[in-house]
Amino acid sequence: MLARYSESPYQLTRRFASTAMQQVNGIVAQWMRSAGMTVRTDAVGNLIGRYEGTHSGARTLLLGSHLDTVIDAGKYDGIFGVLAALACVERLQQEQRRLPFAIEILAFADEEGLRYNYAYIGSKAVAGTFDCRALTLTDANNLTMSEAICAFGGDPAILRQGRPYWSPADLIGYYELHIEQGPVLEVLDLPVAIVSAISGQSRLRLEFLGQAGHAGTVPMSLRSDALCAAAEFILAVEAIASAESGLVATVGKLTVQPGAPNVIPGQVTLSLDVRHQEDRIREQACRDLHILALELAEQRNVSLVWEEIQASRTVPCSPRLIDQLQKALVNVNQTIQFLPSGAGHDAVAMSDLTEVAMLFLRCRGGISHHPDEMIKQADVEIALEVTEQFLSLLAEQEECR
Ligand SMILES: [Zn+2]
Repeated sequence: MLARYSESPYQLTRRFASTAMQQVNGIVAQWMRSAGMTVRTDAVGNLIGRYEGTHSGARTLLLGSHLDTVIDAGKYDGIFGVLAALACVERLQQEQRRLPFAIEILAFADEEGLRYNYAYIGSKAVAGTFDCRALTLTDANNLTMSEAICAFGGDPAILRQGRPYWSPADLIGYYELHIEQGPVLEVLDLPVAIVSAISGQSRLRLEFLGQAGHAGTVPMSLRSDALCAAAEFILAVEAIASAESGLVATVGKLTVQPGAPNVIPGQVTLSLDVRHQEDRIREQACRDLHILALELAEQRNVSLVWEEIQASRTVPCSPRLIDQLQKALVNVNQTIQFLPSGAGHDAVAMSDLTEVAMLFLRCRGGISHHPDEMIKQADVEIALEVTEQFLSLLAEQEECR
């Protein structure tokens, strides 16, 4: 139903601080209130619902995910995590049950970073790690982030203070349900998996520089073909990643210059994306690939530019919370399966504030960021049961504190 609230009538696109986001926030806020929650919208436009615990002064468990989408998105990325958390609170309210901790549902205003090319705006604001220089970034219509936040009813001045919303001692942790966005659970024929860690990532930019020349007059033996070097490198990337369990490496973008049918390629620029849930393995893979690229360049008489654009460390999920999730799976007769998350999530930004845990839900064909995104009702029911068990186990622990 929420997929109707889009910036386009033909596809689902819901950017940060858009009218569509305003509408969705309004509806989810109503649902939160019906579930007995008090609701507020924070300075950046996150919608936050609070379900009180048994006593005042109780700690808080944060549940959440994001309500923004990519362009032409699916219906479940992000939204599923918010609504699944809400369904659990609804059941607590129906049973007139209070836990020895408060629950806050965080419906983040931006995770994808679509509008300002700056990801995790919502969760970074909560964690107090939002970089206020981003307020001057402009969108496609030249509207600054600061202006968009004001128009949405937020307050950039509060953001500039950069304060986390909680002191870590008052929190039990952050838990996020999310669709897997990959095909592994479907292959394993399992409905859910515990996320072991959110994989670190290296993004690099490479250039092979050879000598452009006439495709008809330069003999093969006298060429310095930059594309041939790049082609060998790309296949080596595939081979090296395939040889290491859990390692994924991708060349997703390739620019060939001069780029004419009758000219030998003189310059090739390519992107390289490397991920693994252990930083040590990712970093070693990058070093190995660098050496290999240098060797290939030498063999083919071209030069190499190797530039690291960005590197992010792996965010491990909390062993304490994972322990309880494992017990929850056992209690509802589900197979325990761990998966690393190759994609980033709000839990990455939230890990600066508190311990994090995630549960992945199977999605059809592993398809995501696409209108064909699909999940099964029966899987959702299992994910909710696991989460309810998880809450009960945390409640037992909290009572023993
Ligand atoms: Zn997401």
